[in-house]
Amino acid sequence: MSAPVAFTFHPSGVGRARLGLLTTPHGLIETPQFMPVGTQATVKALSPGDLRAAGVQVILANTYHLSLRPGHERIARLGGLHRFMGWDGPILTDSGGFQVFSLAHLGTVDDDGATFASHLDGSPQRLTPERAMEIQEALGSDIAMAFDQLVDATLPPAEVAIAMRRTHRWAERCLAAHTRPDQALFGIVQGGVDADLRRESVASITALPFDGIAVGGLSVGETKEQMAATLDLVAEALSDDPRVRYLMGVGAPPDFFTAVERGIDLFDCVLPTRVARTGQLWTSSGRLNLRNARFLDDPEPPDADCRCETCRNHSRAYLAHLFRAEELLAYRLSSLHNVTYTQDLMRRIREALENGSFGTLREAVMAQYGGSGTRSISQG
Ligand SMILES: [Zn+2]
Repeated sequence: MSAPVAFTFHPSGVGRARLGLLTTPHGLIETPQFMPVGTQATVKALSPGDLRAAGVQVILANTYHLSLRPGHERIARLGGLHRFMGWDGPILTDSGGFQVFSLAHLGTVDDDGATFASHLDGSPQRLTPERAMEIQEALGSDIAMAFDQLVDATLPPAEVAIAMRRTHRWAERCLAAHTRPDQALFGIVQGGVDADLRRESVASITALPFDGIAVGGLSVGETKEQMAATLDLVAEALSDDPRVRYLMGVGAPPDFFTAVERGIDLFDCVLPTRVARTGQLWTSSGRLNLRNARFLDDPEPPDADCRCETCRNHSRAYLAHLFRAEELLAYRLSSLHNVTYTQDLMRRIREALENGSFGTLREAVMAQYGGSGTRSISQG
């Protein structure tokens, strides 16, 4: 039987950056690539048509949220997640590990799994590696994620090590439980910001027959320098492993450059849509806060260089008004723009890797977004 996904890539000549193509049951994904987050089977305020118009190639949906509501069995009965939400492109589902982390105050983790209270009604819930596989197979995503235990990257190494070794045992249980032949399964490297633990985790996870390798446990309290250093040593440890590499939960413009140079192919983050709903737009001249009174009389489009519906048809003044009036259209227009900006940025990164202008693009974006303070590893 052929593998559910296939990944081909070539080195770009810029640091460890790769240009690749990930083939999934629901279509192709050009890498480096960003996945907008559709927590509840919707990228908030956007329709599948909006996502297509923005150039989105793959989205992420949440195992934990969808298993509670409307229930993965119901989604399976209705034909699976693609049909349920009207999105026929690739979908990656997370495993619930992040929700266990963020809802840690509601539960406990043991060697078998995690027990916690539903954030909806307080009912007792249990996630195990087997359960996480069952839910993701019912949802029918193209890519499922192994169930992992995420901890604050800055905890003492002894505590990070306990969660990491548990994650390794759970990884084997996920592989044993996963049966769906048309669904890929990615493993997750943990280990916080401790160099020895990260190397141990890369060795354990890459020894297993996963279809892709994710780097978890970053963007959870560490500094930008720690993130870059961790990605450096993960890249070193991964060496010439040919599988696609996914950095979980990272999505600020400067961070893309830091990670792409270190060999990362895929990203996801709630950031572009979350900040959009607060009135913050990402533009080719940097961040724009539409709550600022000076935009109430500004007839210019949010970003004159942007091709999105919002920028082609509307002014900063109109959006500033919509936000003040708390009109629903504010959320759609701002989200559509930020997702378009992010997709265009990833396309520009791919083009820059092809044509040798990556360093120029990186400097421009770092200048617009305040940089990350992370030293480049290449002169690309
Ligand atoms: Zn726009």
